[in-house]
Amino acid sequence: MNCPICEKKMEKAKEPYSYGNVKLGDFEAEKCNNCNEVFFTEESSDKIDEKAKQLGIWGIGQKAKIGYSGNSLIIRIPKKIADFLHLKKGEEIFVRPEGERKLVVET
Ligand SMILES: [Zn+2]
Repeated sequence: MNCPICEKKMEKAKEPYSYGNVKLGDFEAEKCNNCNEVFFTEESSDKIDEKAKQLGIWGIGQKAKIGYSGNSLIIRIPKKIADFLHLKKGEEIFVRPEGERKLVVET
């Protein structure tokens, strides 16, 4: 398989996968040595879902709307996710973009 991003050859690798801040383990994947893009095999995706279901955290992600407060945009974090990450009001978090369409909130 060639990398869909840079089209270089990919190699088999065991890569860690996390769901929120919970590490689910290492899973078989194809990794690009050029751009470091990782693609999990279909079999691994099933194993990842299975593991997340076992831990009761599968399907926790959900849609949230962006609101507006003063000069800032605000995102309401659903209670289920806030509880899962043990987020509390007033707690400091670290927000950063990952790529162009992903927002990462780190606690
Ligand atoms: Zn690549």
